[in-house]
Amino acid sequence: MSTGTLNTIPDSPQALVIGAGPTGSVAATVLARAGLSTVLVERASFPRRKVCGGCLAPAGIRALEACGLGERLHSIDPIPMRHLRLQAGGASSSLPIEPYYSLDRGRLDEVLAAGAVDHGAVFQDGVRATIKPDDHVLLEQDGDSLDCTPGIVVVADGLAGTSLREREGFDWVINDQSPIGLGAVIECPLDQDDDDSIVMRCSKTGYVGTSRLGDGRLVVAAAVSAEAIKQDGTQGAVARICREAGGDAARFENIQWKGVGQLTRQRARFAQGRILVLGDAARYVEPLTGEGMSWGICRAADILPHARRMLEGEEICEGWTREANRMLRTRRLVCRSICGLSRRPRALSLILNILGERPPIGWATRRLCWSSS
Ligand SMILES: Cc1cc2nc3c(=O)[nH]c(=O)nc-3n(C[C@H](O)[C@H](O)[C@H](O)COP(=O)(O)OP(=O)(O)OC[C@H]3O[C@@H](n4cnc5c(N)ncnc54)[C@H](O)[C@@H]3O)c2cc1C
Repeated sequence: MSTGTLNTIPDSPQALVIGAGPTGSVAATVLARAGLSTVLVERASFPRRKVCGGCLAPAGIRALEACGLGERLHSIDPIPMRHLRLQAGGASSSLPIEPYYSLDRGRLDEVLAAGAVDHGAVFQDGVRATIKPDDHVLLEQDGDSLDCTPGIVVVADGLAGTSLREREGFDWVINDQSPIGLGAVIECPLDQDDDDSIVMRCSKTGYVGTSRLGDGRLVVAAAVSAEAIKQDGTQGAVARICREAGGDAARFENIQWKGVGQLTRQRARFAQGRILVLGDAARYVEPLTGEGMSWGICRAADILPHARRMLEGEEICEGWTREANRMLRTRRLVCRSICGLSRRPRALSLILNILGERPPIGWATRRLCWSSS
């Protein structure tokens, strides 16, 4: 679905965006829409599979609509998820939530990159970008290369991004207690609980979440402690979480899981010189609350004033980092608290029992925890 080869890429665009996940495509859209010559490059060839629960939070939906990508988003028929069903220690409770969209992550990324092109960006997939120590960017595709000198470089290359590997000072700080991320999309008969619910099965060693796609398939995403995987293997660790939560372990047997490394991490810095880092490439927390895409999208939607000032030669790194930290602080606290609670199944099952019996408390919890998303 790309627009050409390296020959179609101008070598001195005002903005080069690296990585066409939701963060990069939104950043490219916003910059191109404002009239900046913008290039978006992506290492993988689209369509590509991506480990993700595929649930887009309300703030992300609103931000996509506000920056002119709403039509593209709705073209892939996302399914509104109106309930969050939590299972832990044999207890279960269903909380009404402001709808999240359940969607096919591979298709979302494809249509958002196409949306960036709609707004004037040049997009090329199958291109690996490497930022050189002098801020030049080497673009490589099938043995060809292009030396690019952009006005600014937006790094949105995710958790496994490679564009900054030759730059000093952007190392990852990884939490060694961090769980491992797993994902799959499976054929599975419809269960009465999962037609419009995100279902989360929580235990001490992690959680397994599911949501239904428009074509009936089930997206399964899990965050599992590295220790549990070492002990029981991936299938065994997932089955144990489901059993301990009090749910169905059988439906997840024999899944071909795709994994990502340890999830909880942060870059040592978010900006330097003409480089801005955002989305998963900047920091990552656990995906339990379905915040990841939304954070990246919202941050990218705000990029224009920073990019303009950077292009005018202003030093904005400190402000960019401060703003990123401010935006993340509250949400990360909520995320961590929920994740921490999810690993204490006794406490969680007690809370779920209370929520089940006292719906107003459930409503208040929902306002507190999920409305910031
Ligand atoms: C198990 C699991 C479940 C999750 N569930 C959810 C959920 O339900 N809801 C939610 O909102 N979030 C969820 N997340 C988090 C979500 O997937 C991420 O937060 C989101 O993908 C971040 O988007 P991004 O655009 O920043 O990065 P990515 O989507 O990772 O995109 C980065 C892109 O950059 C490309 N790239 C890398 N290096 C280079 C290079 N050198 N040159 C060019 N391109 C490069 C990559 O190929 C990739 O396509 C989940 C994550 C996991 C692991």
